[in-house]
Amino acid sequence: MATVRPLIAGNWKMNGLSHQIAEAEAVAKGLAETPSSARVAICPPATLIDRISRELADSGVEVGGQDCHAEACGAFTGDVCAEMLADAGATLVILGHSERRAGYGETDAVVASKVEAALRAGLEPIVCVGETLEQRKAGQAVQVVQAQVRGSLPQSLKRRAFSVAYEPVWAIGTGLTPTLEDIEEVHVAVRAVLVEAFGEQGATVPILYGGSVKPSNAGEILHVKDVGGALVGGASLKASDFLGIIRAL
Ligand code: PEP
Repeated sequence: MATVRPLIAGNWKMNGLSHQIAEAEAVAKGLAETPSSARVAICPPATLIDRISRELADSGVEVGGQDCHAEACGAFTGDVCAEMLADAGATLVILGHSERRAGYGETDAVVASKVEAALRAGLEPIVCVGETLEQRKAGQAVQVVQAQVRGSLPQSLKRRAFSVAYEPVWAIGTGLTPTLEDIEEVHVAVRAVLVEAFGEQGATVPILYGGSVKPSNAGEILHVKDVGGALVGGASLKASDFLGIIRAL
């Protein structure tokens, strides 16, 4: 199987004012001093993408959006389209985060249409999937996640760069994480669907783990079979913590 460069992406969620641009700069500075074998990305709120992209230009740290509308323009007050993210300097976009699925009713079909939008704008999608605690307790985690992967990834992703982030809903922002065996079970199951849907390409798509990753648990999680990086929420807000995770690779 071809080796894939791991991706470690920080999801700042709805956090980030001008003064926090310094945290992004500190990440770039840390990586300049001690380079990483991983690709590193920061996904700040849309309001900071332009400024952070300018600050991080030539640093190797990529900048991403956290969501986009499926349409390219129009009467969608308050929304941001993929072309706007790309225009502001983003190269990636997180799609289908569980906070979007739960809070805004985003179905797999909606996520798939946003993936099409991201590709249209030249953005690399990071597509999130993950089971709820009830689904895990009912023994449905693998089945739920595989169905989300099948429904959220359109065939237009063939030969395009993208990644999948497995984020158990109950592990996001809670300090709880699945066992390493449970992470491996789901990642291997996601890999199987990727290979089924995309053939050889599916074997090299990074499958990130997300959910309460921090410097102290990153090393063991990042070395689980088929874990190709991490999507990091809370711990990406402080450069020292985010760098600690990147260095655990
Ligand atoms: C996330 O929001 O994608 C996430 C993984 O959050 P946290 O790391 O805070 O659990």
